[in-house]
Amino acid sequence: MKNPYFPHVAVIRDIRDEGPGLKSFDLAFRDESVWEEFQPKPGQFVELSVFGEGEAPFGVATGAHETGQLRLSIQQVGRLTKVLHSMSPGDEVGVRGPFGNGWPLETAKGRNLIIIGGGIGMPPVRSALVTAMAEKDQYESISLYYGARSPEHITYADEVERWIASGDANIHITVDVGDESWKGHVGVITTLLEDEKASPANAVTMTCGPPIMIHFVIPTLTKLGFTDDQIIVSLEARMKCGIGKCGRCNLGAEYICLDGPVFAYDHLQAMGIKL
Ligand SMILES: Cc1cc2nc3c(=O)[nH]c(=O)nc-3n(C[C@H](O)[C@H](O)[C@H](O)COP(=O)(O)OP(=O)(O)OC[C@H]3O[C@@H](n4cnc5c(N)ncnc54)[C@H](O)[C@@H]3O)c2cc1C
Repeated sequence: MKNPYFPHVAVIRDIRDEGPGLKSFDLAFRDESVWEEFQPKPGQFVELSVFGEGEAPFGVATGAHETGQLRLSIQQVGRLTKVLHSMSPGDEVGVRGPFGNGWPLETAKGRNLIIIGGGIGMPPVRSALVTAMAEKDQYESISLYYGARSPEHITYADEVERWIASGDANIHITVDVGDESWKGHVGVITTLLEDEKASPANAVTMTCGPPIMIHFVIPTLTKLGFTDDQIIVSLEARMKCGIGKCGRCNLGAEYICLDGPVFAYDHLQAMGIKL
C-alpha cells in the first residue's frame, strides 16, 4: 500500500516573479515516471514540503494538457513560503497529492463557462482556464472575470496578454486601484461582473479567490440571475494532512481537503454553510 504521507521528490526547474511577493515555481519530479500516476486535475491541490521546514497546501496552476511539469504560484506570507521564496532552480522539494476533487469542467461542456478569479485564487483559475481553452470547441463560450489589487498585481500578466490575443476566451480584467498606465476597468470584481452584464443563460460559474471576494461575488451573481446550482466555488482553509485525517478543514460534516476544495453553492446551502 502506498504511504499517503510520503512525498515525491521534485526539482525546481524555473522560478518567475509574478507580482509583489508572488512567485511561480515550475517543478518536475526527479523520477519522471511519477507524473504518469500524478496527473493533477484542474482545481486540485498539492502538499508541498521544504525538507526540514514543513509543508503547506498549494493549488495546482497546471492545465490538464500541460504534462510533466507542475506549476505552483506562491505568495510569501510566513515561515514556509519565506523559505520557498529564497530557493533557486535546481533545489529539491517534496510533493504529495494531488488532492481534492477539482473543477467539474465536464459539466460545463456545451455551456457558457464563466471563470471568476481574484488574488491568490489565480492558480486554480489558470488551471481551469487553460484546460478549457485547449478544448474550446467543446464549450459554448469561455469567459474570465479577473480582479487584481493593482496593475502590478495581475498574476500571469504575460499569459493574460496572450489569452486576450488568442480570442479563445473573453477576458475581462479589473483592478481595485489603477495607475497612469492602466486604461482598463477600475473597481472590485463585483462591479466588473455587473458592468459587463455577466449572463446566466446556459452558463456555469467557477469562482476562486479570497473569502471576502467569494462572499460578495455570490450575491452579485444571484442579482444577475444566476441560480445556486450555477455557482461553483473553490474554498481554502487551514489544513495539514490533505487527506481527511487531521480534522483541520472541516466544513459541516465534510472536509475541504477531501470533499472539496470545489463545492457547488446549492450543496453548501443545503448544508447550511454561509460564505
Ligand atoms: C487548498 C489550498 C490551496 C492553496 N493554494 C495556494 C496557492 O495556490 N498559493 C498560495 O500562495 N497559497 C495557497 N494556499 C495558502 C497556503 O497554504 C498558505 O499561505 C501557506 O500554508 C502559508 O504557509 P507559511 O508557513 O508561509 O505561513 P505561516 O507561517 O503558517 O502563516 C503566515 C500567515 O498566514 C496565515 N495562514 C497560513 N495558512 C493559511 C491558510 N490556509 N489560510 C489563511 N491564512 C493562512 C497564518 O495565520 C499567518 O497569519 C492554499 C491553501 C489551501 C488550503
